Amino acid sequence: MVQETRFEGLAVGGQRIASSDGKTAPTYNPANNQVIAQVAQASAHDVDQAVKTAHARFTAGAWKQIRTRERGQILQRIANLIREKSEMLAQIESANGGKPISAARGEIGAVANTFEYYAGAVNKIHGQTIPVNANGTHMTFHEPLGVCALIIPWNFPLVITGWKVAPALAMGNTVVVKPASATPLSALALADLALEAGLPEGVFNVITGSGSVAGNALITHPLVRKISFTGSTEIGMGVMKQAADGIKRVSLELGGKSANIVFADARLDTCIESSLFAVYDNAGQDCCSRSRILVERPIYDEFVEKFVNRTKTMKVGDPTDETIEMGPLITPQHRDSVLNYIHIGDSEGAQRLCGGDVPQGALANGNYLSPAVYTNVTAGMRIMQEEVFGPVVGIMPFDGEDEAIRLANDSPYGLSGSVWTRDVGRALRVARSFETGMISINSSSSVHIEAPFGGMKQSGIGREQGMVALEHYSEYKSVFIAND
Ligand code: NAD
Ligand code: MN
Repeated sequence: MVQETRFEGLAVGGQRIASSDGKTAPTYNPANNQVIAQVAQASAHDVDQAVKTAHARFTAGAWKQIRTRERGQILQRIANLIREKSEMLAQIESANGGKPISAARGEIGAVANTFEYYAGAVNKIHGQTIPVNANGTHMTFHEPLGVCALIIPWNFPLVITGWKVAPALAMGNTVVVKPASATPLSALALADLALEAGLPEGVFNVITGSGSVAGNALITHPLVRKISFTGSTEIGMGVMKQAADGIKRVSLELGGKSANIVFADARLDTCIESSLFAVYDNAGQDCCSRSRILVERPIYDEFVEKFVNRTKTMKVGDPTDETIEMGPLITPQHRDSVLNYIHIGDSEGAQRLCGGDVPQGALANGNYLSPAVYTNVTAGMRIMQEEVFGPVVGIMPFDGEDEAIRLANDSPYGLSGSVWTRDVGRALRVARSFETGMISINSSSSVHIEAPFGGMKQSGIGREQGMVALEHYSEYKSVFIAND
C-alpha cells in the first residue's frame, strides 16, 4: 500500500496555506532518511504576505491592546496546551530532529516552562517616573517593536522557538518565525496550538523554506523591526550586515567551542559522567557543547582512560529506543561535514583513541556516527578551534590555573564552559576570567529559563531567557509632561 505523504502548509494569518508557487520540499527522519512530510516552501511573495499580515495585526492592536492579565492568560494557556500535547510534540521533535525520545520529552517540558515564565512577565514590566530637572513629570514606557523576524536552527527547534516567541509576544509584538529547513514541523504545530489557546490570528506566523529564499526575504523585509537569529556564526555575520539596512534591531546567538576545565581536585567520577553529556548530548550538535576538555596534568592520564572507556560504551541507536544515549546526526550532509573534521583531526596528527566510525547493520540507513575522542592535540589545531557540531572532543593537559585560563580563552568563540574544582575561590577566579557568556561550576549545564543565555566574542550579541530578553523585544519611550 502506498501511503500518501502528509502536507504541511505555511502558518500565516491563522490559516495553513500552500506556497504561492506551490513549491514543496520533503522533510526527513534522520534515523532512516525516510520522508515524514512534504512542507510548503515560502517564496519571497509568501514572506511578504506573512510580514504584511503580522504588521497589520500589530498596528491594529490585535494583540498589544489586549489587557495585560488576558495576554498573560493566553500565554499560560499555550504553556498548558504544550503540556497536554507534550507526547505528540516530543514525537515530532524526535522523528524530525533525530533526538532520543527521552531528551525530546525534556525539551517539550522546557518549552512549556518558557511560555509559563513569560506569561508571568506580561504585567511585571513597567516604566519609571524620573526626577528630572524641570517643572513636570518624566516617565518611561516599554513599547513593543512591531514585527519580529525569528530565525531558528535545527538543533533545538522548539526550545529555541520558545525562547524567542514567548518574550516577543509577552512584550506585545507580532512575529514571523522561520524554522530551519531540516526541522520545520514543531514550530508549525506550536503555531496551531497558539491559535487553539486563543492567540489572535496573524500574531504568530510561521514560514517554512530555505534560508537563502525565505530567510533572506524575511530579514530584508522593510516592515521587519527586529531580527533575532540563532544559527552559525558564518550566517549570523551576513544577517548582521543585512540588518544594517533599515537599522533593524538584531540579536544573535551563534556558534561555540566551549572548554571544560578539570582541576586535579575535581570529583572525578561525577565529572566524567557529566563531561560525556556535556559534549555528546544531542549527538554533539549543541551550541554549548564542551568540545574542548582541559585536564590538569596530575589526573590527565586517569581522566583520559576513564573518559575513553565510557565513550566506547555510549549507546548509539534509534531515537525511539528509550535506553539509547545518542541518536543520529541531522542529515547525511552534516555527517559528511563532521566526518571531514575526523579526517582533518587525523591528518593534523591528533591521536583518535576511539570513534569517528559510521555504524553499519541496523543503523546503516540513518546518519549515525560513533563518538570520537582525540588526544595529542594542540590549541591551534582546527579540531580545537572550529565548531565541529558533532560527537567529537579533544582532550589536552594543562599546568596550573593561568594556563587553564589562557587555553580556555584561546578561541574566537565565547558561549559556554565548565570548571570542575572543589576550591571555591579558584572556581570563581576562573569563572570571572573566562571570556564566555555562561559557565557552570561542577556541572555541565548553565541553561535556566530564569537566567540570561548568550555569548561573548563571536558567539553572539544580546541575551535570551530571563527578564533581560524582554529588553530585546521592546524599546524605551520617554514621555515628559509639563506641570502647567
Ligand atoms: P545555520 O546558520 O545554517 O541556519 C540557521 C537558520 O538561518 C536556519 O533557519 C536557516 O534556514 C537560516 N538561514 C540560512 N541562511 C540565511 C540567510 N541568508 N538569511 C536568513 N536566514 C538564513 O545554522 P544551523 O545549521 O541551523 O544550526 C547550527 C548552528 O547554530 C551552529 O553553529 C550552532 O552553534 C548554532 N546555534 C547557536 C545557539 C546559541 O544559542 N548560541 C543555539 C543553537 C544553535
Ligand atoms: Mn547549517
